[in-house]
Amino acid sequence: MGKITGFLEIDRQERRNKPAADRMRNFNEFVIPLEDRDVERQAARCMDCGIPYCHSGCPVNNQIPDWNDLVYRHEWQEAALDLHSTNNFPEFTGRICPAPCEAACTLNIDDNPVTIKTIECAIVDKAWSEGWVTPQIATTTTGKSVGVVGSGPAGMAAAQQLARAGHEVHLYEKQAKAGGLLRYGIPDFKMEKHLIDRRVQQMEAEGVQFHYGVHVGAETSVADIEARHDAVLLAGGAEHPRDLPIEGRDLEGIHFAMDFLPQQNRRVGQEGIGPVEPILAGGKHVLVIGGGDTGSDCIGTSFRQGALSVTQLEIMPVPPERENKELTWPHWPLKMRTSSSQAEGAHRDFAVMTTRLEGESGRVKLAHCVRVDENFEQLPGSEFTLKADMVLLAMGFVHPVHEGMVTDLGLSLDGRGNVEADTRAYRTSRDKIYTAGDMRRGQSLVVWAIREGRQAAHAIDADLMGHSDLPT
Ligand SMILES: Cc1cc2nc3c(=O)[nH]c(=O)nc-3n(C[C@H](O)[C@H](O)[C@H](O)COP(=O)(O)OP(=O)(O)OC[C@H]3O[C@@H](n4cnc5c(N)ncnc54)[C@H](O)[C@@H]3O)c2cc1C
Ligand code: SF4
Repeated sequence: MGKITGFLEIDRQERRNKPAADRMRNFNEFVIPLEDRDVERQAARCMDCGIPYCHSGCPVNNQIPDWNDLVYRHEWQEAALDLHSTNNFPEFTGRICPAPCEAACTLNIDDNPVTIKTIECAIVDKAWSEGWVTPQIATTTTGKSVGVVGSGPAGMAAAQQLARAGHEVHLYEKQAKAGGLLRYGIPDFKMEKHLIDRRVQQMEAEGVQFHYGVHVGAETSVADIEARHDAVLLAGGAEHPRDLPIEGRDLEGIHFAMDFLPQQNRRVGQEGIGPVEPILAGGKHVLVIGGGDTGSDCIGTSFRQGALSVTQLEIMPVPPERENKELTWPHWPLKMRTSSSQAEGAHRDFAVMTTRLEGESGRVKLAHCVRVDENFEQLPGSEFTLKADMVLLAMGFVHPVHEGMVTDLGLSLDGRGNVEADTRAYRTSRDKIYTAGDMRRGQSLVVWAIREGRQAAHAIDADLMGHSDLPT
């Protein structure tokens, strides 16, 4: 374990953010890493509990107490090896994971969990800067070929694992670059994209062949992909956004978050936005409808583009400031959280329903709202209006896109419209077709996508070879 009395002697110390006034001038990451010696002191706080609840809190089951101990003892390279044994891309999760591990940490009973995410990020960043992350090239080949559709975290994790098992792996992506929502949804200020590029280079050296601009089920038929490979993994995400079918929805200036955010990420990545109308928040009063991660990313992006004001509406009631630990720990608690983007000056309101959007000369100008109770019943007399020159819909995603790949294959869907498969075999209703990530589980988290990609790779390898040595 870390230092036996560490948790009694050392206070929790988190990474700090650059001041809002500085960070809002550009789209760069703004979290300031801790010095190595401070990370080692934080790792010393780990109590190595008899039952490490953080293990099961972490979807990839990172061996957290083990690498905490290694960091405390200055054995960073060994810690990096341990971390990579359960997580293909800890530099992604170390930046953008909501860290359910910390909610599950025993020290969180006292509101002072080990800074697990900070330590994870420090380990992998050091591993890259020291040159410890190298391609792990398979020593034998199996003669089997696997196609993976979708290069988000699920597809990337699966492709990397399958290549390491010796299969020929082809990764098909409809966009110009790899990463899925990591690249085109999550803004650079939360995660810079060169982190994805160097993983792609590592995977190419390991034998994964990336095919960009290939839209399976559109220009490229899914039957063609199916015929080329011994197994196909569908990791196309859950891209069908939830809409707001109210009066005024067809006015100009109302956009889905995922029409707005990718444009900015492409500008930062110097990709060019293509032949579409630019969506920009500069000089506008922006209304974000939806209180989750996507809504926060819309806020931070709008402020950086020069929005006059940003208001975020959430239909759910305001959550409690602090959870009741006896009821929630070690599970992820519902409580008030303020993202770095919200802290940059957004006005937030809860238990609010938008009932109508009003425009002038065809452009949105005003949102009509009403307060609701916990059953979403409107409270009479609570109606109000908000200025809105631009409205961003960030109310989540309903399920994967069905048209094209999913319908062409005639796949069974679950009750929520996701592609049906269990979490052991990851097999769809069609022979040799598998699915993982948001396409299977619905809108979720990067860390869950990595887990499902790894597990699906294990399942595919076992089906192709009769057994699998790949870790899950
Ligand atoms: C704006 C936003 C912010 C988020 N922030 C966070 C966060 O901070 N932390 C967190 O943990 N999670 C976050 N999430 C959720 C997280 O990004 C997703 O859960 C995760 O990326 C899902 O991974 P995936 O690989 O299953 O799918 P995706 O990342 O959606 O990748 C799917 C890929 O498949 C490709 N594709 C789809 N169909 C086809 C086809 N027919 N042919 C070829 N290619 C295809 C797509 O272009 C895409 O590249 C956020 C989501 C959004 C939208
Ligand atoms: S991946 Fe997420 S849950 Fe797992 S250790 Fe890292 S921050 Fe915690």
